[in-house]
Amino acid sequence: MDAIITLSQLYPAIFYCLVFFVSLMVGSFLNVVIYRLPIMMERSWQQEYESYFSDSGNDGISTASDKSTTPDEPFNLVKPDSTCPSCGHEIRAWENIPVISYLFLKGKCANCKVGISVRYPLVELFTAIACTFAAYQFGVTSQALWAVAFTYVLVALLFIDLDKMLLPDQLTLPLLWLGLLLSTQNIFVGTTDAIIGAAAGYLSLWSVYWLFKLVTGKEGMGYGDFKLLAALGAFTGWQGLPVIILLSSLVGAIAGILIMIIQNKGKSLAIPFGPYLAVAGWLTLLFKHEIITTYLDYVL
Ligand SMILES: [Zn+2]
Repeated sequence: MDAIITLSQLYPAIFYCLVFFVSLMVGSFLNVVIYRLPIMMERSWQQEYESYFSDSGNDGISTASDKSTTPDEPFNLVKPDSTCPSCGHEIRAWENIPVISYLFLKGKCANCKVGISVRYPLVELFTAIACTFAAYQFGVTSQALWAVAFTYVLVALLFIDLDKMLLPDQLTLPLLWLGLLLSTQNIFVGTTDAIIGAAAGYLSLWSVYWLFKLVTGKEGMGYGDFKLLAALGAFTGWQGLPVIILLSSLVGAIAGILIMIIQNKGKSLAIPFGPYLAVAGWLTLLFKHEIITTYLDYVL
């Protein structure tokens, strides 16, 4: 470990290469998280729901013995092993090398030749590029390593929200606690800035949500969005929040226009807010000072 640190300080390129290849592998794991975490959550909700109604027993009709809907086989981030969704072929280690296996297999299952989604290698590459970029921005420092960890969680949140309109507490809350803990060591911001950032991040969206709901009777976003902005505020400090809000609106507007052009529809689609927050929060952690100085220069 010491050797790696010394080498990295002598040759930063080695550090960035390490970050790139480790992040490719983590990206492969994030694909699993993105696919399985929502299913795990749905199953646990279903179990809670069933146990609630079988315990109350107010209608005399017992459905507690009906176990068919809750399979006993473990389903988590490591079990069962990954299989081809089409033929059930178990993915062997050499078929699971990030990006390379996909290219080698020409994007097809080794057994049944059914196409594998191009999204898997793209998520791996996306994770690796984003993390290397984050590491480069902070140089060979502990900040760089935490920025990489921050990126991992945001990548998972971004894709889960795109897929399921869901920002799992299992990801947003640990990210929030991590941001607050790092502030005690002054990694990105100090403790006061981080605590105010987390609280103000949560409460600002929470207020908008209730105001919007009282006025229009509709729900514009969910509690996951508040928790995500709280976590982002803990990393960037309260000073980052206006930047995140502005950037997420900007990213949202650009994405909205792109989607309208690509799909050739004038109608607005229901797009989750989380991905914009995630992208904006990531940009803010990396470029907060540049953005604020540029903005002030422009305004003053
Ligand atoms: Zn197959």
